[in-house]
Amino acid sequence: MSRPDLHLPKVIGHRGAALRAPENTLAGFRKAAELGCRMVEFDVRLSLDDRPVIFHDDQLERVTGAKGAVGATLFSDLKSLDAGAHFAPAYRGEAIPSLEEALALLKTLELAFDLELKAEPGREGRLAEAVARALLRLWPGDLPAPLVTSFQPDAAAAFQRLAPDVPRGYLVEVLPRDWRRVAERLGAAAVICNQRLLSLDAVRAVKAAGYPLLAYTVNHAARAGELFALGVDGLISDMPDAIMAAL
Ligand code: MG
Repeated sequence: MSRPDLHLPKVIGHRGAALRAPENTLAGFRKAAELGCRMVEFDVRLSLDDRPVIFHDDQLERVTGAKGAVGATLFSDLKSLDAGAHFAPAYRGEAIPSLEEALALLKTLELAFDLELKAEPGREGRLAEAVARALLRLWPGDLPAPLVTSFQPDAAAAFQRLAPDVPRGYLVEVLPRDWRRVAERLGAAAVICNQRLLSLDAVRAVKAAGYPLLAYTVNHAARAGELFALGVDGLISDMPDAIMAAL
């Protein structure tokens, strides 16, 4: 089994640093870098016209106030929306980034990333293709290795076929019984679990199998301490500075 050599930091900023700056925006990535992060997590979806953009929800409303789904909206219309004002007035005008814009900034900031594929049903292959193409073109091998993840097995498998050399993380809420078979088939470079559902047995099993283990989403220093003591290697946090300060 190939297991790409990844250098994972102990703290990864969630959607940039979602409690410190608007999630999944360029301002959020700058904030994460400013707070000392070496790696950020973010989500990628397709616009109606198959352009990959950085956005978490399938619906636009919570973040932009607009009605409709990301996947039913043209890229040019997505670019006219405000993804910053919902967080604080100072961020008014912050746009939804394209994947290309995000990669250009991350390169400048020397930030590695954990990219989560979020496909609408039936568009897993197209999303994987758009992301694979962008990474192969815009993120050369001498930059810090990214990690590509998805809760959607079809998206993860499609990405694996298209970009077999880009490290993949096996992302789950809770480890299923057959997790090891799935992780091996995916050639996973890391396993990523929900911290709330993480048992000591699961930590031991993942570590015994030799995988780095990440847990999401951890925003309290005391909980971070418990998880590191259990053997978890890295945490994904909305306030990465608070977790790093407690290390
Ligand atoms: Mg995510």
